[in-house]
Amino acid sequence: MNAHDSEKVSGTLLEHGYTQVATPEDAGLVLYNTCSIRDKAEQKVFNRLQNFKRAGNGKIFGVLGCVAQQEGEKIFDRAPHVSLVCGSASYPRFGEMLVQLEAGARRVTGLSLDTEETFDTPFTRRDNPHRAYITIIEGCDKSCAYCVVPFTRGPERSRTSESVMAEARRLAGAGYSEIQLLGQNVNSYRDPSPAGWNFAALLERVAAVTGIRRVRYTTSHPRDFGKDIVEAMDRHQAICDHVHLPVQSGSTRVLRSMERQYTRDEYMRRIEWLKSAGRRYSLTTDIIVGFPGETEQDFEQTLDLLDQVQYDSLFSFKYSPRPNTAALQMSDVVPDEEKQRRLVTLQEKQRAIQIRRNAEMIGDIREVLVEGRHQSLGQWIGRTSDNRTLNFTHTAGDGDSLVGRYLPVRVTRSGPNSLVGESVTVV
Ligand code: SF4
Repeated sequence: MNAHDSEKVSGTLLEHGYTQVATPEDAGLVLYNTCSIRDKAEQKVFNRLQNFKRAGNGKIFGVLGCVAQQEGEKIFDRAPHVSLVCGSASYPRFGEMLVQLEAGARRVTGLSLDTEETFDTPFTRRDNPHRAYITIIEGCDKSCAYCVVPFTRGPERSRTSESVMAEARRLAGAGYSEIQLLGQNVNSYRDPSPAGWNFAALLERVAAVTGIRRVRYTTSHPRDFGKDIVEAMDRHQAICDHVHLPVQSGSTRVLRSMERQYTRDEYMRRIEWLKSAGRRYSLTTDIIVGFPGETEQDFEQTLDLLDQVQYDSLFSFKYSPRPNTAALQMSDVVPDEEKQRRLVTLQEKQRAIQIRRNAEMIGDIREVLVEGRHQSLGQWIGRTSDNRTLNFTHTAGDGDSLVGRYLPVRVTRSGPNSLVGESVTVV
């Protein structure tokens, strides 16, 4: 979401006559887009701002994103060389704020969360010429006990299906072949226009746009992940063979204390829908270890969940407290050494699962979208529909760039995090 927000902000700047330079040193205006999902984010932001100040020399500085929303006007006090503090819910007013900065204002803020608007702009400057993000929903109405997002990105608000579809068609017309639909919780998408589409309906319509070969979406919330989404995926080959369904814990007791709004059994029902679907979907997840009150038995239930689901990959984190969250007040904190031990145990288990699952792919022929080249290895970098990295050699016409093409590749080797293969000619 943040990367795509930066693309939209950059596009707005270009539209206002700005040009992009290669380094902050060359810039007259430096906007720092921030994320507070990781620990000590504010401190990192202030350290970076201090470095910017040294390279200052009449430049205008702005802080955008979650840390801007969280710290608000305090940023002006701690970093007086900053002139703009703006959270993501205020980006629809970004053009206005730019005008104020240009007029010499030196404490411009966009901090209101009271909005029903989404940041729709035709001026996005996209970083990748083949794969494009489309935001379909912003903010979040859930209240997971560890999460700052409802406080930094505001309430849930969906874009109209008409505006999403127009953007998808425009992108296809411009040669983009892969679309990634974005939102904090894409599954709770509700078209605010009379058409009233839900997420599954939108997903199907985007997948049917001529020229779009791949559609991905992130992130899902198990509570709102309905069977209609699996059915839509089964009907449209363009929807990629991958579902990221964050579970966070394998223990219903911990899920309750996290306020995740589903039980382990309810989560597993969704996994069963996916495992018994018409295609084989790769499954990935997010897990937090050491949430306050997590016992050894709770943690073992998470390990057991890994055995049951057999994820293709996962993102794992040690719990760390965040400002403005309910978990901040919870006692029964798990000591850091214990969190670290659980994290290592979890990651070792998952690594063994990935080694086994990736080895099962050897001999398969997979279609990849070519994303780049490893010059030193003499390999092209490809991504499969199920979101695996498949690096490969290609002998025919090796001097030509393959980036952006879709090619069949036979898997010849596997590791815990990626596959290696060679391109094949399908007769
Ligand atoms: S669903 Fe929960 S974890 Fe995800 S953004 Fe909303 S509050 Fe945060």
